[in-house]
Amino acid sequence: MFTMMESARLEALHLAHDPATGLKAVIAIHDSRFGPALGGCRYLPYPDDDSAIRDAIRLARGMSYKAALAGLEQGGGKAVIIRPPHVDNRGALFEAFGRMIESLDGRYITAVDSGTSSADMDCVAQHTRHVTSTTAAGDPSPHTAMGVFAGIRATARAHLGGDDLEGLRVAVQGLGHVGFALAEQLAAAGAVLFVSDLDPGRVQLAVEQLGAHPVGGDALFSTPCDIFAPCGLGGVLNADTVGRLHCAAVAGAANNPLTSLEVADELERRGILYAPDYVINSGGLIYVALKHRGEELPAITAHLANIGRRLTEIYGHAQAEKCSPARVADALAERLLYGPASR
Ligand code: NAD
Repeated sequence: MFTMMESARLEALHLAHDPATGLKAVIAIHDSRFGPALGGCRYLPYPDDDSAIRDAIRLARGMSYKAALAGLEQGGGKAVIIRPPHVDNRGALFEAFGRMIESLDGRYITAVDSGTSSADMDCVAQHTRHVTSTTAAGDPSPHTAMGVFAGIRATARAHLGGDDLEGLRVAVQGLGHVGFALAEQLAAAGAVLFVSDLDPGRVQLAVEQLGAHPVGGDALFSTPCDIFAPCGLGGVLNADTVGRLHCAAVAGAANNPLTSLEVADELERRGILYAPDYVINSGGLIYVALKHRGEELPAITAHLANIGRRLTEIYGHAQAEKCSPARVADALAERLLYGPASR
């Protein structure tokens, strides 16, 4: 366990078990030098306790990198609750999780993530104020979409000769909370949309409301376009799918869309510009972090502009160093976290 913590440079790991509610939770605090650790709470089944702990550590580290590059006075953390096969009272389980967070005295702030909802966060909020994305705080997804839109503009400017999106062909994979809001902004800016979703209803909506062109399932990978925007699940770009892409850049909301850094290298080799996921999709984190600090919407929206600036900086370094923006982003985050503490 300590070897795993050491190699991830993890600051602290907290475990809680509450037999009365069935709560089995892991909170990983990666780094809190720049502020309290902030990161979502997953509520998923895991094959064993070790996989839950490993997931929390890996994700907490990613949150530190995301916060550092977003210029937030925030550390990185993540919680994982192992979803039991059966739960009598979900509300009571999340209330117990709220008590666990309260015992950490503000060192970790939680939020929604895979498997959790604002209603769950409302239960957490009954026992601690160290929680965001409650019903009252609002859904971060529209802000994630705004950030991705700004990131697509920066990507077009760096690689496609200008940031006018009129006529830009964008393939949006996944039309959920973020993907649909992104598609709306792209359509309003005059982009031509190719879309896919596992849910045909979402596709139909994009066709009717945004004039999008529907593309069946996997065919989206090989659809000729300027930008491929993964906005569904992670892990969609692997050695096989990356070879099928017919685009100039990959820029979307999905977390961990590449199965490995080698896939980023392959994109680079093929001349496809990659917008690092945790930079372009940091709008949601910016929203929840600043909202939790009591900032007003105009200040939050202004901070989202950092996403385009940061991507432009990363693209510049990547071009100079002839390597993938994914590697540049990791190196930059590590320098901000572990190098001389200057932001
Ligand atoms: P969501 O669950 O609302 O939507 C995901 C959509 O993608 C669904 O409609 C689903 O049917 C579709 N989908 C899944 N796999 C697909 C595939 N292979 N092909 C086509 N469609 C597919 O999720 P969301 O909140 O919109 O988040 C989307 C992605 O962005 C996720 O990877 C998430 O981790 C990431 N992200 C979200 C936020 C946020 O604020 N919601 C912030 C940062 C990152």
